[in-house]
Amino acid sequence: MISRDSGRGTRGSGERPRFWGPASRHWRLRISAALSWLLAWTFLGAAQKPPSGGNSPNLRITIWVHDYARVKPSTLARAEREATRILGEAEVNLLWQSYSPPPGGPGAVPASQAASDATLIRVIFVEPSKAYALTHPEETLGITPMSREGERDTLVEVFLDRVRYQADYSGLSVGVLLGHAIAHELGHVLLRTSGHVSTGIMRAGWTPEDLRLADSGLLIFTSRQAELIRNEVRERAKEQAATEVATGTHSQ
Ligand SMILES: [Zn+2]
Repeated sequence: MISRDSGRGTRGSGERPRFWGPASRHWRLRISAALSWLLAWTFLGAAQKPPSGGNSPNLRITIWVHDYARVKPSTLARAEREATRILGEAEVNLLWQSYSPPPGGPGAVPASQAASDATLIRVIFVEPSKAYALTHPEETLGITPMSREGERDTLVEVFLDRVRYQADYSGLSVGVLLGHAIAHELGHVLLRTSGHVSTGIMRAGWTPEDLRLADSGLLIFTSRQAELIRNEVRERAKEQAATEVATGTHSQ
């Protein structure tokens, strides 16, 4: 698991990155000001298609929430419901647990802890996001500090001040937008890719039409993404079970 500092140190400190910068290890979610109505609806069928794969019992990821942004309990509850619903469409259950932030800020989260359980993902709510002003565009709602493309990571960060701003700007509730931002970042982690696609929740930027779909519960993973996510969750469960056998421990 890469540390926050080493992950971000690869970027020139004063250079504003291109959105698709090949050297970027951080993947951002932005709200696009441009309306791509046609594009959204061209692919809407694929995005709305229910996941195939049938029986996927007991596919579960535990989410540890570290809230440095003091999110209102009702907002957090709504966000959790939204993210749970979106992952549920992919037949993956989310089990939420809140943990008090460790002293010292987000950087104090021990990487060893984050990597200690393959079935656990930490979601850190960060505020303010001024520290990211040079390296992340204002539209960025969250990042997944992946150590390397294709690796199995267990940490995402969401910028609450930007979520609140964009929610206010777009008319969406903070809870709904936060839930979608979390689901998008979980998508990166569970798909083990920094990549984006042209439709659904894993688009690089959400258009106003996407946000309307989000408000209607229709901005979800494609059936192919859902299949890949289920496979990854299965693999994580196997890895964790093997770890517990090897170490003689049993967690969760
Ligand atoms: Zn993204």
